[in-house]
Amino acid sequence: MKDILAQGLAQMGITPPPGAVDKLCQYSDLLLKQNKVMNLTAITEPEEVARLHFLDSAAILTWGKETALAPPPSGGSHTWLSGKSLVDIGTGAGFPGMVLKILDPSLSLTLVDSLGKRVAWLERVCEVLCLDHVQCLHARAEELALTSGFRDSFDVATSRAVASFPLLCELCLPYVKPGGVFLAMKSIESHEEVQGGLSAVKRLGGALSDPFDYPIPGGGLSHRIVTVKKLSPTPKGLPRSWGKIKKAPL
Ligand code: SAM
Repeated sequence: MKDILAQGLAQMGITPPPGAVDKLCQYSDLLLKQNKVMNLTAITEPEEVARLHFLDSAAILTWGKETALAPPPSGGSHTWLSGKSLVDIGTGAGFPGMVLKILDPSLSLTLVDSLGKRVAWLERVCEVLCLDHVQCLHARAEELALTSGFRDSFDVATSRAVASFPLLCELCLPYVKPGGVFLAMKSIESHEEVQGGLSAVKRLGGALSDPFDYPIPGGGLSHRIVTVKKLSPTPKGLPRSWGKIKKAPL
């Protein structure tokens, strides 16, 4: 696990801060132990956790190296996310948010999930791994986004494996402040799904940018980050209730 992570991160051009790889190993141990009594992940082999959860989540850090929107700061373990606020919607067992926090401790992180047991477990993980400036919130994304302090408030929103792109936009884009970005982690075959969300992007004050495809080291797999820039504040009346989001996507 440690070698896969160290080599994979190096291949991705990511310099982990001191102790981060050990923390990821500890996180994996906690995840696989808890997974025996609570449904956290379908992945049960440490090597697969390393590649398909940790290195995949870490790819968000490489996105910033490729875009003019967030030029890479040079040197050390400083990343394009350093000092930024990030909300991870439908974080589940903490992906991608928790991995990003471990790799860049200066990140101000908010994890949101509608399943209370998972959120309680994430709080315990933060304590064990001594992670500060992490809020773990048990909430439905579409409801929390109506609250001041959350609406139009974050530099970055992320989400992986939560909903189809048109629905996901209404769950996530309302959190992003104008000038910020929503990064949806999707398959490289998501082109049609994303095209189906273009009107939602526009209605929510966003604009779609070019996708960023990345290989996951060691697995022969590639995934995609779909980028939506937030141009203007979220219009009144959005997001709607989950029933309406599902029944009539924007
Ligand atoms: N992002 C994690 C990952 O990539 O492993 C978890 C993915 S899991 C398949 C989807 C998660 O989204 C679940 O933990 C679920 O509780 C959460 N979720 C679904 N709809 C949500 C909503 N409207 N608000 C907040 N969380 C939601």
